[in-house]
Amino acid sequence: MPWVDGWLPGHILPRSPDQVRAELDRWTRLAEPVGVEHAAVMIEQTVALWNDRTPKNWSDIADFYLEAVEDMPPDLLDEALREVRLNSRFFPTPADIRAPVLARLERRKRTRDRLGTMLAIAGDGPHQTDYQRARQIFAAPVASKAGGHDYPGTRNPPEFFTSDCANGCGCWMGEFRSGGPEGVDPFGACPKAGEG
Ligand SMILES: [Zn+2]
Repeated sequence: MPWVDGWLPGHILPRSPDQVRAELDRWTRLAEPVGVEHAAVMIEQTVALWNDRTPKNWSDIADFYLEAVEDMPPDLLDEALREVRLNSRFFPTPADIRAPVLARLERRKRTRDRLGTMLAIAGDGPHQTDYQRARQIFAAPVASKAGGHDYPGTRNPPEFFTSDCANGCGCWMGEFRSGGPEGVDPFGACPKAGEG
């Protein structure tokens, strides 16, 4: 989510504390790992496909498979095992099971952690109101008019993300903050407009 990914320490809270807490709850649930017993059953069901090609030392190495999935939520484990069933010609390794969903797993954990950091650092301070946010989102494309700055990340609200002025003047526009060098208005004329 852009408002989570774009937040940095020093920024105010980009949503109300209640909204941030609700998102933190949601992402905590999305990142909640499967229980180890449930994981063991799911893995056993999938590796049974290779039945006579099961490694002879399976009882010794099964723990490594659990280790590879212990931080996976059940829906991602389910999806990872499905990938393995459809695509693995050989008995899968722990890495084969992890690979198909690794990026999404990391993303869920990163979003959860960032929301937690956000609340811990900025939760007691002021927050961006819906009105302020809407004003920034509507004003940013206007600032990108001819002679103004060029903020690629603001071209398609609400797919709005923080970006630097592409003219290279040093100004930047974010969903809930903007800035630039001394004396240059990030919503005003761009000193480098038309140079390219
Ligand atoms: Zn500029």
